[in-house]
Amino acid sequence: MKTITGELFNTDTAYADFGKKADEIVSVSGYVHRIREMTGFAFIILRTARELIQCVYAPEFSEYRLDEKLCEEACVKITGKVVGSKDRDGNDRYELQIHDIKILSLPAETLPIVINKKQLDGIQLNTVLDLRPISMRNPKERAIFKLQEGIARGFREFLMKNGFTEIRSPKINFAGAEGGTNVFKLDYFGKTVFLAQSPQLYKQALVGVFNRVFEIAPVFRAEHHDTSRHLNEYISMDFEMGFINGFEDIMNMETGALKYIMNLLKTEYAEEVAILHADIPEITEIPCMKFMDAKELIMNKFKYTPSDMKDFDPAEEEMLGKYAKKELNSDFIFITHYPSKKRPFYTMDDPENPEFTLSFDLLFRGLEITSGGQRIHDYNEQIEKMKKCGMNPDAFETYLMFHKYGAPPHGGLGLGLERLTMHLLGFKNVREATMFPRDINRVAP
Ligand code: ATP
Ligand code: MG
Repeated sequence: MKTITGELFNTDTAYADFGKKADEIVSVSGYVHRIREMTGFAFIILRTARELIQCVYAPEFSEYRLDEKLCEEACVKITGKVVGSKDRDGNDRYELQIHDIKILSLPAETLPIVINKKQLDGIQLNTVLDLRPISMRNPKERAIFKLQEGIARGFREFLMKNGFTEIRSPKINFAGAEGGTNVFKLDYFGKTVFLAQSPQLYKQALVGVFNRVFEIAPVFRAEHHDTSRHLNEYISMDFEMGFINGFEDIMNMETGALKYIMNLLKTEYAEEVAILHADIPEITEIPCMKFMDAKELIMNKFKYTPSDMKDFDPAEEEMLGKYAKKELNSDFIFITHYPSKKRPFYTMDDPENPEFTLSFDLLFRGLEITSGGQRIHDYNEQIEKMKKCGMNPDAFETYLMFHKYGAPPHGGLGLGLERLTMHLLGFKNVREATMFPRDINRVAP
């Protein structure tokens, strides 16, 4: 009987690292990224999972005969000898002297856009998004999402090293966590349910089980407006931790995670950082400013009249970002103690001044990327707060089990993956940092 052992893996699409294979005969599979015919020979650039490999075709070395059948985006397996040479700057480089090409498949049509330039030139964002399955084959577009993998991976690795358990909470829920109007309603066998606006209620329940938990998953926000920073579905990197001494513990954990992420990008994603000219911030420490002090700064230093004294508008966030960079030499700034009225029902009020909360936002280069804070853990206090917010505690019976049967001082945060990617790469629109964006005008591809 035939059996499957799980031992044989096809490695010829993996990172080639030719430096270690000089003079060896190797096989590499990938896409024909570009063909450049010269007199008597040709360059075939092979695109593998993460790199572009220069392959040199010369009839005297090759069993395969180059003809017009071999075209861009053909899937091939190229066998050849690894040959060392020098680039313009005198650095070692390696190319493949082609001995044979096996065509695995040919495209049915030529591409509607040019993807084999360094970047997609002169193509509108909407077209790029319409054609995502192929526009992402462009090395620069692809690098965005490889780098994004690094961010999520760094978040996960750092938290796991620090005793966090990874969780997966349901996305179809009986209640919205963040409140407000931006919750998607869904008909669920005749009942109305909601798409998760955040994993908040489940994170808290699971603090009662694992003490420290995190989740990297989609959340849904029915934002009715078309802005450059809002998606209707985005990836939230969330964590929640119990037995904290104060909400500074959460800011410390986030700062540690960001340091780890930036370091991971510099070391293991150096190629993508270079392709994207990503400006990776140096983090030693992150300054903190109280909400009301920030408002004063905006009014006095920037001579701006805020429209809302309970939150910041995008222009105010930009001012705070500029201030942090210029005066405090930091790409990040924590704003703490947000007004109670604008924070969700589970937020703990500041015992010293209950009009404000033990909460914070993190701004990165003038854009909110995180909201977090300490949560209420006392059962009666949570019931009171819910009533004050006009909510019916009976509708939250399962959520309140956590508080009712013993909950530690705890808190956590949510960090938007696309927003962080967006400002790391200097994009103006969050959609550029989103593989398949969902917004009021787009649900495909
Ligand atoms: P904003 O004030 O910018 O609308 P928010 O305060 O409503 O954001 P939170 O509920 O605090 O958002 O969500 C936590 C984090 O999730 C934000 O700091 C941001 O990074 C990200 N985020 C929130 N809403 C969106 C969205 N619609 N699209 C993309 N990312 C989002
Ligand atoms: Mg927020």
